[in-house]
Amino acid sequence: MSKLKDWAASSLFPRRCACCGAVVSAEKGFCSECEKSLPRITGEVCPACGRGKKKCTCKNKSNYYDAIAAPFYFEGNIRLGIHRFKFRRAAYYADAYAREMSDTVALRFKNVKFDYITEVPSGKRARRERGYNQCELLARAVSKNTGIPYKKGILKKIYETEKQHGLNYYMRQGNLTGVFDSDRPEEIKDKVILLCDDISTSGETLNECAKMLWLYGAKNIYCISAALTEMKGEKR
Ligand SMILES: [Zn+2]
Ligand SMILES: [Zn+2]
Repeated sequence: MSKLKDWAASSLFPRRCACCGAVVSAEKGFCSECEKSLPRITGEVCPACGRGKKKCTCKNKSNYYDAIAAPFYFEGNIRLGIHRFKFRRAAYYADAYAREMSDTVALRFKNVKFDYITEVPSGKRARRERGYNQCELLARAVSKNTGIPYKKGILKKIYETEKQHGLNYYMRQGNLTGVFDSDRPEEIKDKVILLCDDISTSGETLNECAKMLWLYGAKNIYCISAALTEMKGEKR
């Protein structure tokens, strides 16, 4: 029965490459062409920003989180796919990215025993526009792959901010102070938490989220993102 359902679903909604949108077989996240040129983050990485040593400009800056990791740089062919995922109702891409993110969690945080995974919250407006919080879709899928329990809505956004990508680094910092909060502090205290984001630019959104978790007594906080942008304008 579930096979029939899978078949029906895949013929109605064929699985598409999470970069270029070409139809691929059900078990694949990316077409073979895109797979070859994925901008993967490999080798040794900076735990503070998740970039490879050559791309890190953060100078190991201290954050409220312990470490961040991501499978991809936000460049090349993955950009279009993630854009579609984020802005154009291509929610099914979550599976392809989450598979890579799960592998990254296993690789980079292999000795960490997580209590749960939760998402960077989106504002009501963004959720209304998109119909979903893309970070929640990723967190749910990573949870399914890794067995780390998922908890929805540990953090919430307490007021709407100007859209992040229209702001420069310094504005972004000011723009985020006090944006996040939680009404479930008892679920945060002494916990080892994995925080899930989609695209991380300066890491400030994650750091603000991590700050709230830290204030409520989280034991350790790790961040997983689908992709990390170049650290433009953040050299300090
Ligand atoms: Zn492709
Ligand atoms: Zn760094």
